Amino acid sequence: MTKDEMIWDLSPLVESTSPALIQKKLESMVAEAEKIRDTYHGKIGGFGAKSLLKLLEMKDVFTLKFDEVTMYCLLMYSADSTDDVAKQLNEAARRTSMRAAEALAFINIELGKLLAENPSLVTDPVLVEYKHYLERILRRAPHMLSETEERLIIVKDKNGIKAWQMLQSDWLSTRTFDIEIEGETKTLPYGEIIGLYESPDHDLRERSNQVVYENLGKDEIIWATAIRTVCEDHLQMSKLRKYPTPMTQSLIANDVDKQTINSLMRTIEKNVDLYQRYLRLKAKLMGVDKLANYDLVAPLPDAPEMNYGWMEARKEVVDAYMDFDEKIGKWVDEMFEKRHIDGKVRKGKESGAFCADWLAGKSAYILQSFNGKMGDVYTLAHEQGHAVHAYLGSRAQKPSNYEIGSCIAETGSTFGELLLTEQLLSKVKTKKEKQAILAKILDEFGMATFQVSARVLFEQSMYEAMERGEFLDGEAVAKLWVAARDKIYGDSVDWLDVMKWEWTMKPHYYMANYRFYNYPYVLAQLFVFTLYQLYKEQGDSFVPKLKRLLAAGSSKSPRELGAELGFDITDENFWEKGMKQAEELIDILEKTL
Ligand SMILES: [Zn+2]
Repeated sequence: MTKDEMIWDLSPLVESTSPALIQKKLESMVAEAEKIRDTYHGKIGGFGAKSLLKLLEMKDVFTLKFDEVTMYCLLMYSADSTDDVAKQLNEAARRTSMRAAEALAFINIELGKLLAENPSLVTDPVLVEYKHYLERILRRAPHMLSETEERLIIVKDKNGIKAWQMLQSDWLSTRTFDIEIEGETKTLPYGEIIGLYESPDHDLRERSNQVVYENLGKDEIIWATAIRTVCEDHLQMSKLRKYPTPMTQSLIANDVDKQTINSLMRTIEKNVDLYQRYLRLKAKLMGVDKLANYDLVAPLPDAPEMNYGWMEARKEVVDAYMDFDEKIGKWVDEMFEKRHIDGKVRKGKESGAFCADWLAGKSAYILQSFNGKMGDVYTLAHEQGHAVHAYLGSRAQKPSNYEIGSCIAETGSTFGELLLTEQLLSKVKTKKEKQAILAKILDEFGMATFQVSARVLFEQSMYEAMERGEFLDGEAVAKLWVAARDKIYGDSVDWLDVMKWEWTMKPHYYMANYRFYNYPYVLAQLFVFTLYQLYKEQGDSFVPKLKRLLAAGSSKSPRELGAELGFDITDENFWEKGMKQAEELIDILEKTL
């Protein structure tokens, strides 16, 4: 093999890798979008089913035609932002995509009006393939304001509500914190000091938490004013847009309903004991009486170094999927074979990991920085799960039906992590290895399901307080945060006093039009644990069910997907299965003590 196995090959995405030809194709994307606008603008309101079908199909053809070239530029840049050609192409791709999106923005607005006036179009047999896509637009339609008002909101938001988000982010990223490390005082930016939270050194973890939150608390007046204003703006806008509750906008965006979220959250509140049981077990493994907040995501002491080469990692991940289904295993292996994964560590590479769906190629590309740690193998398995989702979804669905919302997006990926867990557990050599693997998956489960639920409860309580007319200053917001947090953790964790300022640093709370963003994470995590439990119960007969679910893309709502598995997800029994899956893992961990 002459090519580096760990560097991806992006060439299948473009006919030619010549930057000039790529730029030309990007420009032709804008020209084509403008042509569509010139042809259809102002006309959609008079469409019947057949002409609507033609428009939607054309929109999908447009997506498939230009998706690859844009993807090529963005991926090239994320792999190496220091490369001059990548910089230039990335900029060109961003600029032209924005212009194309602007040119096509009228479609959804006109479509919303058309459907609001002719709702029967949604169930017209001619449009059957687009049924759920249209249902979602129809659900949003009554809350749209006039075109002039919508445009005014965009202009006013730019220097209004969006400025708070910018302030929060700029403020946080320009703070520095002094901390003593190995006898030397270091001044670290926020992005760096938070890395110490996961340090194996107990004292360093404590001091880094203390210094960060103590300092954030000093600026409480800024955080409180920002969060209050963002929430009040949302309350006002919800009323103007005639949403019955502050949560409705988010429910529509996530394609779910209130009953589902209520049953999910009831299940969480009923199972806080289970989480607290895990935390007490972890305390034992850490050799302390009770966990401190800075131990929650800490590694276990003397966790064994488990190192993997690239080919070893490939084998672990492929085998884990192969064990579930041979065809899926082959696809996962093909991602390596065709070099669709960039695992190499290099300067200028985007941090973290992602999987980019390649719809036209019915495949995907994965980026990660592989350092050979167990966590890297998990990341690889996670992103491969997204790739499997893309393989199945892009074969079965048109692009309009493959806009996966956050409640479903992690189905393939988290399921893959559980497959890997089982695979790794089956061949551990020592008790310590077993504990490290279980703690890794249970820490993640605990954070995504329970810790995030504290944020759900907190956000809810803020709107309730506002609607009661309470004024929320920093201390009042902190009180709501602590109350929500304690509902989840009870007395299983000791919190530093300054942790009452934990809400100040979450950028999402300050993002405009992004309220109630937390429950989708909870839903996504517990959904997959439930699916895994069903797999354990049903064995091989579950395999085609999961494949169908992934192949459905966004053509069905989570509730419909649950129904196809034979479950009503508004019923707590469905979610309890996910808790049962977690409990089984906790039981295995307990037996190692
Ligand atoms: Zn993911």
